[in-house]
This record gives sequence, structure tokens and C-alpha cells, in this order.
Amino acid sequence: MTPHFAQKLIHWQQQHGRNDLPWQVSDPYRIWLSEIMLQQTQVATVLPYYQTFLERFPDVQTLAQAPLDDVLARWSGLGYYTRARNLHLAAQHIVAQHGGAFPNTAAQLAELPGIGRSTAAAIAAFAFGERAAILDGNVRRVLARHAGIAGYTGANTVQEQLWRIAEQRLPNAEHIASYTQGLMDLGSLVCSRSKPNCPACPVQEDCIALRDDLTRTLPTPKPKKEQVVRSTVMLLIEQGDAILLLQRPPSGIWGGLWCLPECDSTLNASQYCQSTLGLQVCSGEIQAEFSHTFTHFRLDITVLAVQASVGTGLADSQSRWFSRQAALQTGIPAPLRKVLSTLPGPLLR
Ligand code: SF4
Repeated sequence: MTPHFAQKLIHWQQQHGRNDLPWQVSDPYRIWLSEIMLQQTQVATVLPYYQTFLERFPDVQTLAQAPLDDVLARWSGLGYYTRARNLHLAAQHIVAQHGGAFPNTAAQLAELPGIGRSTAAAIAAFAFGERAAILDGNVRRVLARHAGIAGYTGANTVQEQLWRIAEQRLPNAEHIASYTQGLMDLGSLVCSRSKPNCPACPVQEDCIALRDDLTRTLPTPKPKKEQVVRSTVMLLIEQGDAILLLQRPPSGIWGGLWCLPECDSTLNASQYCQSTLGLQVCSGEIQAEFSHTFTHFRLDITVLAVQASVGTGLADSQSRWFSRQAALQTGIPAPLRKVLSTLPGPLLR
């Protein structure tokens, strides 16, 4: 029998939830792409990226055959680039191991790169009607509040408790898609982080956080750690109208993307250019200073523009001179996109 919580949610989703999203189709490839893009990213941000990504990579075969650089270029600006690399790897795996047909159970999907338990369940529920429980960040918040579960939801014991609750509340397979979408919609449209709209909530009548006035304290926040701060100097090396970009190693931050060369201090810029890049440069000018926040640390970035002497240059596959226009069309991290958009060059003559 479908639990009371699920009945209320399904009914509400059909009346008030989101039912016209472009990935609400039966094609597992499109559903998978949306679920990966929606990790840590809101629907409104994902929509334009989803469309342009699909125009370039309309199916899993096209994605599997594409160069990784192309995939990263279409992902550029969406952040968390490991998602794009794993998407590419998973597409190659699906073509090589499954002949291009999507694995059709949550258990098999969870074996693909970049697909965790909750994402696998969401794809299986939407694409194949499997009765599988999801537990992403929004759902953790909804269940912690509704069931009155205290403790940081990232902690293993709390997660296990929430997974049990998520599974107990599942409806019959026939309604699984509406229910799963309903949980997602409730988390983002009603039971929001800072101001849950409890009077509009379909499950308010037995919500423990509402009953006990705990909506501000549940879910229990993550124990605070002091933020780690790193700093770097990015060198905007100009030669005429061109700028030099280096491709970052495949793993680590901004893995595989094209980025400005970096050194540890503005004072070492000339020496770095000569010894590491084989370039003679004139003394530079600081053009911008700003911070970019990653999940685990803050990066303080100084952008130093320097001019390379004519006739010097590099010749390897990980370094390339780009026009600014071409740089903006390749896979570059969002902070560099901002720098290039706000500092049109050439800056030094
Ligand atoms: Fe969230 Fe309020 Fe609904 Fe409880 S009643 S689940 S706190 S929106």
C-alpha cells in the first residue's frame, strides 16, 4: 500500500509540481544528462546548458566519440568539471560494454562513473519506473525536517537513518516517477533551506519540525571548520593579440580545462616565464584581484598581465596561444571567463 506521505506528495506533484521540464521524457540518456547537471546546480542554471549540450551531443554514441575538450567546452561555466569527465567516461563505457543501450536498473547504473546511489535511483525511477529511493541534498532536508531527525545529514549514522526512512516511504512502482519528482519539487519549491513555506506544504499535518518549531534548526548544519585559503598568481601573458593558456592535468581542480599559467608570487613571474615556459617577458602590471570559492577552500587570485617578446613561444600540446575570442569558446574555468570578459585586451602595448 502506498504510504500516506507518498499519497499526499504524488497528488500535490501532479497539481502543483514541475511537469514541463525538457528532461521529463522517456529517453534515459536525456534523463541521465539532466540528473548529472542538476547535481549541486539549480534548474534555472541548468536549462540553457542542457539545451546546447544536447544540440552538440544528441545521444550517447555522439558523446562517447567526442574529444574530451569538446565536452568540457560545452560544460564550461557550469562548474564541478569532474561531472563532465565522468559523463564522457560513462558514455564510452555504455557504448563499449553495453552496445550503447543504457543499463536499466539502479544497481547497474550505480556502477557507472559519476553515478552515486541517489542519482542511479532517480534515473531508474524516471526512465524505467523502478521503485528506488533517492536522497540528494534537498531530500535529506525534507526528510530530516518531516521525520524530525537531528544530527548532521552528511554523517554516516544520520544518512543510514534517512535512507531507511526514504525507502519506507516509497509508493508502488506505478507512481514512482511522480513521487520522485514530487520530493525534488517539494525540496526546491516549498521546503527550502532558509524559508520553508509550510502553509503551502502537502505534508504539513504530520511534519515534526513544524509541530515542534524546529524548521530553523533542522537539518542540523555541518560542524564548522575554519576555511582554508590558498593564493595564486595567474599570468595573463600577451603576445600581440594572443594570450597563452595551459591545459591543466586531467584530475584536480579545473582538470582538463585551459587556464592561465600560474606562479606563486608576482615577484617570481619573469623567472617562472623564463625557466618553465621558455618565454622572455617584460615586467607586469596587476590587473585584477578576486576570490573564488571551492567546496573545500577559497582561492585568492591575482591576475598579472605581462608581455612576451615577439618570437618566443612554446610548442607542446598542453600549451597554446589563443585569441581572446577563441579562448572564450574553449573549455575554460568560470573565473577565467570573467577575467577575459572584463579585461578585453591587449592590455599592454
Ligand atoms: Fe518542510 Fe514545512 Fe513541509 Fe515540514 S511542513 S516538510 S518543514 S515545508
